[in-house]
Amino acid sequence: MANALKRLGARAGDRIGTLAWNDYRHFELYYATSCSGLVCHTINPRLFAEQIAYIVNHAEDRWLFIDPAFVPLLESLASQLTSVKGFVILTDQAHMPATGLPNMYCYETLLSEEGAEFEWPQLDENSAAALCYTSGTTGNPKGVLFSHRAMVLHTYGVLLPGAFAMQEGEAVLPVVPMFHVNAWSLPYAAPVMGAKLVLPGPKMGCGETLCTLIREEGVNVAAGVPTVWLALQKYLRETGLQIPSLNRVIVGGAACPWSIMQEFEERHGVYTHHAWGMTEMSPLGTFNARVPDSLPAKEAEKRRLKQGRAVFGVEMRIVDDTGRELPRDGVAYGALQVRGPWVCESYYKVECKAEESALTEDGWFDTGDVASIDPDGYLGITDRTKDVIKSGGEWISSIELENLAVAMDGVQEAAVIGVAHHKWDERPLLLVVPSPDAELEPQRILAGFHGKVASWWIPDDCLLVEEIPHTATGKISKKDLRTQLADYRWP
Ligand code: ADP
Repeated sequence: MANALKRLGARAGDRIGTLAWNDYRHFELYYATSCSGLVCHTINPRLFAEQIAYIVNHAEDRWLFIDPAFVPLLESLASQLTSVKGFVILTDQAHMPATGLPNMYCYETLLSEEGAEFEWPQLDENSAAALCYTSGTTGNPKGVLFSHRAMVLHTYGVLLPGAFAMQEGEAVLPVVPMFHVNAWSLPYAAPVMGAKLVLPGPKMGCGETLCTLIREEGVNVAAGVPTVWLALQKYLRETGLQIPSLNRVIVGGAACPWSIMQEFEERHGVYTHHAWGMTEMSPLGTFNARVPDSLPAKEAEKRRLKQGRAVFGVEMRIVDDTGRELPRDGVAYGALQVRGPWVCESYYKVECKAEESALTEDGWFDTGDVASIDPDGYLGITDRTKDVIKSGGEWISSIELENLAVAMDGVQEAAVIGVAHHKWDERPLLLVVPSPDAELEPQRILAGFHGKVASWWIPDDCLLVEEIPHTATGKISKKDLRTQLADYRWP
């Protein structure tokens, strides 16, 4: 494929866009592009069409490699794409869609016309390897460019024994999409260790697909956001099937509720590791390694709900509104800032004026998260800065309330947002999706918080809903929830 890209006229530094699920052709492209001096630009196909057009134009992608399923989307956008020379469809000749895309090629046909040898160039370690845009809850998406150096160091970090601890011969299932921060580096980390990669294709949120893959491929370790594990656990409960090969699951991208960890452990003997990171950190920042068996159960639960300790290479600190560093006592919380060799310094093609720099004056990246750090170095994410609920000048963590809610019987999913309040500025409102057949009483759910959090943290109201909106990366979309509930008035 590197030969084919060369023949298509791609030149060093060109961005090659992909709109594709986790499968082997996408994996081939990761290497064909980056290792030949091109930039692999993975695009999230779940974004709005206008955002995709914006991203392709902003990145000035030369070629787009797309799954057949996205051809109609690209047909509607093609006339707006200013830099794209053509399209390669990720399939073989027999499955080529009938389409009117200009300058269109079949991936397997291109490949069949090339030899197996390629002169891999020696690349500057600081040159660009990959590009990924953050979803951007406000304004346009922002690009994060990853250098070869950052990716290699980050991959070492991911593989450390205190992190993913991958072993030769293991089978690894990234349920996190390859367009989402390079599937957390697993397409690099697995080959480095000699582990098998199991790629789930488009049906990542499907419990049956995940269960079948785990059983048939003997998957030992899997990684993804909390919602995908809810789907897997539901399927396993319904079918009574077991997943004996799986021994650990890595959960990040959003806070992992205790109920997910508990169900994995008690029903399947699977250990859940909590991790935290973000696109701007390649993404890994912290990892919660196995706690000692000697730790009392309550202590262990408390520790495992935290996001873990900084992976070697990442430094972190919390600061108050004036930028003053706060103590690492597990109590104080403030804006979380990080630095390290795989932390972004500036956004792609954003002018580096002081006010637009991604870094503070003293060189730290502000994550947009609010957190505490305890004396043992464990990070506890309270919330995103924009999601934390400010009630009477005090902060309430929506994450903590959501964790308690999903642990209650009959609750399938829960979200908490702050709603304007005449007296307290904002008060928490709880939304619950009941499990099928569950008979839930909003007042009973609210009563379930008593004794578990300070009384002023308890949400003022609870609404039962059929569905909670999710972002393109599978997280609860607080922004959409706030829009949907713009007319909500407290009872
Ligand atoms: P996006 O910003 O597009 O949602 P990212 O994956 O970069 O994509 O999101 C990073 C953010 O996700 C973090 O800043 C943090 O708010 C949240 N996050 C990631 N992991 C966790 C976790 N384990 N617990 C709580 N929040 C998390």
